[in-house]
Amino acid sequence: MSDLAERMSLVKLSPTIAVTDKARRLKNEGKKICVLATGEPDFDTPDHIKKAAIQAINEGKTKYTAVDGTRELKEAIISKLKRDNNLEYTLSQVCVGAGAKQVLFNLFMVTINPGDEAIIPAPYWVSYVDMVSLFGGLPVVVECEQNFKLTPELLKSKVTERTKWLILNSPNNPTGVVYTYDELKGIAQVLLEYPRVNIVADDIYEHIIYDEKFFTIAQVEPKLYDRTFVVNGVSKAYAMTGWRIGYIAGRSDVIKAISTLQSQSTSNPNSIAQAAAIGALNGDHSFLKERTKIFKSRRDFVVEKLNSAPGLLAPIPQGAFYLFVSCKGLLGRSTKGGRVIDNDLDFTEYLLEDHLVAVVPGIAFGLKNFIRISYATSQEQLEIGCNNIIKACKILS
Ligand code: PLP
Repeated sequence: MSDLAERMSLVKLSPTIAVTDKARRLKNEGKKICVLATGEPDFDTPDHIKKAAIQAINEGKTKYTAVDGTRELKEAIISKLKRDNNLEYTLSQVCVGAGAKQVLFNLFMVTINPGDEAIIPAPYWVSYVDMVSLFGGLPVVVECEQNFKLTPELLKSKVTERTKWLILNSPNNPTGVVYTYDELKGIAQVLLEYPRVNIVADDIYEHIIYDEKFFTIAQVEPKLYDRTFVVNGVSKAYAMTGWRIGYIAGRSDVIKAISTLQSQSTSNPNSIAQAAAIGALNGDHSFLKERTKIFKSRRDFVVEKLNSAPGLLAPIPQGAFYLFVSCKGLLGRSTKGGRVIDNDLDFTEYLLEDHLVAVVPGIAFGLKNFIRISYATSQEQLEIGCNNIIKACKILS
């Protein structure tokens, strides 16, 4: 008999972590795997941010802090939300946690009752579904194959009496799509008709954006301010995935509940990482422009390469560092060894085992027969990876 709680049947290992683990295992066996599956920038944390952390260590900022984050960090977050998003918050409306992942987890834990529904446009970031399910909620997945975007009509068709959440994520993981001002306005119009629906705006890729301008829904429709929870963090923009700092801003009753929950689980996020996050939010942002330029040139390179592979179709994304590529043109074809590619899982397995490239199957993000490619890696690795993928497609018969 298992000692595990029944609720663990609702959670699976994050598929992106699973792919990365498998690639690591193969690497340890001596295979030269090209990993295009990673969800973090390959750049280092900028020096001025590291210095802020070192200074904090030297000043002895090594003790517990307030559970919901230091006042100084919360003030830096409030200034950021005003500066970048024109949203005003007070200290009691902000909570800092160990990454955007933890604040989302806490948010759902303090708000979801069994049977509550959360509308999740697919493809989606893998953790939303498991988090909602874990607390007895019902993920209502909306397949958005057309441009990978939720439309007002699709949203309207999914709202019920039990809808508690709509989860928006722009720029999006895994597709890189960015919602425009008008698209958010259209979604907001529908939400105004349903005052009981709350909104998560997962803005973690806000600063990794190319030709579009970034908007978050509460900025586009101020009438939604009271029921929107903005989630963001320092992981992606500042290349600080390992530091584990994320934050949430919204209505103070919910934020207070999150802080209470955190007081009984992790307590405050790491004190040194909080100091580093202040350095990031208040510091020089000029490096972002350079890094975005590099990401954009990699994106263009990979899009062009993959669109030359027979059977693949790669749309051009406007943000984040992922491509969501259709492999529908390959279904039914056979490998040299006689295995038939029936779906994206078969294709990703074939790429990894026969051609040493690790990518994530679309089904992990709720839309099958696509693959997610991360271009947050060196140009050299991208060239090897793309060439191997092209070869893999060409020799299918
Ligand atoms: N939201 C999305 C859409 C993500 O892709 C990720 C990380 O991959 C997160 C949230 C979590 O980020 P953090 O490192 O701050 O926990």
